[in-house]
Amino acid sequence: MLLDWYNNGLAEAYILFEKNYSAPKGTKKFSRSISIKKEFEKLQSDRNEFEKFLDKYKEKPLENIKIKKKNGKYDIKGLFPATKKQKKDSKDIWDKIGYGTIDIKNEKCSLCNNTGVKLNTQRFFPFERKIVNYFPSFKEKERLKLCTLHQKIYFYSFGNIFYNKSNDRMSIFYPSTEDFEKIANLSKRIQQIRISNIEKDYFRNIKPEGIITYYPYEFLYPSLFSLYCWSLGKKRGKRDLINILTDIKIELISYLTGGLNIFDTSASISRIDDLFRIFEKFDTNLVGVNKRTRAKGEKSFSIKKVFNWFFNSLTIKGKNYEDKNKLREQWTKCLLQKYKVDFITMNEIVMDNIRTQGNNYKFIGFYDLIIRSILEVINMDELNMFEQVNRMGYSLGKKAEDTLGESMLWDIFRTRTAEDFVETLVRTQVKLRTSLDLRKIEEGKSQWREVKAILLNGMANAFYGYKKEEIKNRKGGKKNAERKK
Ligand SMILES: [Zn+2]
Repeated sequence: MLLDWYNNGLAEAYILFEKNYSAPKGTKKFSRSISIKKEFEKLQSDRNEFEKFLDKYKEKPLENIKIKKKNGKYDIKGLFPATKKQKKDSKDIWDKIGYGTIDIKNEKCSLCNNTGVKLNTQRFFPFERKIVNYFPSFKEKERLKLCTLHQKIYFYSFGNIFYNKSNDRMSIFYPSTEDFEKIANLSKRIQQIRISNIEKDYFRNIKPEGIITYYPYEFLYPSLFSLYCWSLGKKRGKRDLINILTDIKIELISYLTGGLNIFDTSASISRIDDLFRIFEKFDTNLVGVNKRTRAKGEKSFSIKKVFNWFFNSLTIKGKNYEDKNKLREQWTKCLLQKYKVDFITMNEIVMDNIRTQGNNYKFIGFYDLIIRSILEVINMDELNMFEQVNRMGYSLGKKAEDTLGESMLWDIFRTRTAEDFVETLVRTQVKLRTSLDLRKIEEGKSQWREVKAILLNGMANAFYGYKKEEIKNRKGGKKNAERKK
């Protein structure tokens, strides 16, 4: 991460250099980019000149991210709450945050051989607080030490980072290359995917709307979905977006455990293509559903509404968002990290909601549609198993609705071994005077816990699923988020 920040800073400086570059007379147009790069490298090699250049353009990164108050001035106080150490009447942000000053005269910079460094414990823009584990060591003396030049390059880093912030967390999109020219190009493209209508809030270039998140993965997933929705209807929007995101590492910063924590999620979204194919599949499947609803003269559902409805159904009752969103985070993390549908956690969510809400409980919205969309992309084999067991659960639930009811759900839920599970199903069969094709269950014995979860969800869907009337009268995700409070 340390080098990422440095590379970003360098790229930002390059962007400014490029902007302000005037080619010597007689230079042909086609060779312009080559000469700019060379000139920039020349500047880089002369550290005094380079530092002078950074001083000259020092406030440009701030301009890039529009962190200004109404009168056009930077809201430095808001960003860097004053501490005793900070000079009160400094002329510019450079002085304000103490860049360019030296704490220890004869120590070497962590990045170059220059002596005279600053212990980097001050706040890093745009963070209002210190990021404790940003530094490799908790011991102040062993932390990163930077010379004045490198302090400034680090500061520049923030101009071209695509980040966003919710109440207590933030995601940062880092270019995964070290080539400053490539990063500079990427930075320009990233500018294009900023969502303009929420730019009023400087930190929120993307944010899932209608969904209240607490943990990093449950924040990341709907954020990616927001970006997907944004790309719809734009020429090459989806392709461009995927290209950008595959060149980017995503790190999430959260205040979860009191201090700031960094979650490196780059491994999680190494298959960004798959995630977007899931959204696309879901989109296509929804078109089918909407065709049928319109044929019946009913209003069709928007993709955002359906996604929010589903995602908001994955929370449970609890004192705070830490409790409410815990299982949803687990489910989302499994999807993003392992590209798997975590049926067991899903069933835990369902059973917990039944326990706390009883007959008022409403089953996960658009469960079949979304699970099918996910499995069609990531696991066709499991899709077959899911469809058969889900159907079996649903019809079993329909049969038991008026007789055994909820108690049957708990009997099956409480089984602790594969044998116990099958025996309970056989007993249920007898009680309901029906016959189940238990071959699928026997086949799936090795993963009986998943099978059990899918079956129970199918049954719960039969008991607590939305009735047609209710679907028509619902207004979508936001209402759902409120209901779960
Ligand atoms: Zn240095």
